[in-house]
Amino acid sequence: MSMLAWIEDQRKIKLLNTLKKTKTLPEGSQGLWTRCENCGVILYVKHLKENQSICFGCGYHLQMNSQERITHLIDAGTWRPLDEIVSPCDPLQFCDQKKYIDRLKDAQEKTGLQDAIQTGTGMLDGIPVALGVMDFNFMGGSMGSVVGEKITRLIEYATQEGLTLILVCASGGARMQEGILSLMQMAKISAALQVYQSEANLLYISVLTSPTTGGITASFGMLGDLIFAEPKALIGFAGRRVIEQTLQEQLPDDFQTAEYLLHHGLLDLIVPRFFLKQALSETINFYKEAPFKRKGVIPYGIQRKVSFITEEKVRRKWYNVERNSSKNETATNKDDSSSYLEILKSFQNLVDSFDEKKLTKTNEEMQNKEEINETIANMSNREIEWRYSSLTSNNNQKNTFIFEKILCNY
Ligand SMILES: [Zn+2]
Repeated sequence: MSMLAWIEDQRKIKLLNTLKKTKTLPEGSQGLWTRCENCGVILYVKHLKENQSICFGCGYHLQMNSQERITHLIDAGTWRPLDEIVSPCDPLQFCDQKKYIDRLKDAQEKTGLQDAIQTGTGMLDGIPVALGVMDFNFMGGSMGSVVGEKITRLIEYATQEGLTLILVCASGGARMQEGILSLMQMAKISAALQVYQSEANLLYISVLTSPTTGGITASFGMLGDLIFAEPKALIGFAGRRVIEQTLQEQLPDDFQTAEYLLHHGLLDLIVPRFFLKQALSETINFYKEAPFKRKGVIPYGIQRKVSFITEEKVRRKWYNVERNSSKNETATNKDDSSSYLEILKSFQNLVDSFDEKKLTKTNEEMQNKEEINETIANMSNREIEWRYSSLTSNNNQKNTFIFEKILCNY
């Protein structure tokens, strides 16, 4: 190969790479401009976001991601996420054109979420609520076992704490890559909702946004005490084409839109996005004095041994420690050790709550998230006891957390 040919080759490779880069950039929210799906008007993304993703031309409600929704619904600084680290696995080792595991990784990188939902608590106009928001950008908001589990935990938490529950749905249905496991989430959530609604008499509002289809409509989407929807949202179970082919009939144009469903009695209210927060807070206020409302109890046998609150507190404290220690690796100072102590205390409380049995002995260091999860899980099974110790090795002085497994003596 001559020198010139080599240079030419290099130039081509470089050109290809830059082309690829520029191609990937405008995807998602990174581009500056977008087009309205309804009227085709070109919109400046920054202004669109300021307008809660509502088209300036026709008032069409474009899709929003979960974070934006939370920002709009929850009072600033009051959002406390729950179960942030629950992440999906691949039980069927499913593979279509691409491996399910790879799809998950891509979606996680793209959205920064572990799965297609964010759950947590926060204040809505000063009223404490439990909120779950689905994210359509994560594999079409499909419901896998993680989504189901997070929603169920949120419902159980709301039941225990007597909170009003709001679920904002945006989904294409159950996640086919997890097969039957994702279908079973429908029953699981419905069962948890039964306790929440019928035993504890608490208020559940479901907010259906575009699109809400498949398994979501077939379970918690339509189980709300009150069902709100956004204007012109697509809500349905099976797709339009499927129904048309099965019935061999032409369906009306507005079939499966929020307005059509409201007209036929499936929805309670259509609320434009601008008024959603106000509508929710007014409704909750209206239900505040509901006479039969009480704090629910999760039926015996399902009840978890470690309460959600304690579990979550421990997690959060642990994250703070992690964050602090990663920020200033060099200075493991007093602040650090005090938060370690806080964790110790919270775990001590955990242990105190059921220390009837003393169990075994292997020393291991607490290092990462998985271990803390494992510990909490084991803690629930009464296998592990916590101990704080300040290890001082020669190399670096650092307080370390140790947990001891003490063999059952009985
Ligand atoms: Zn438009």
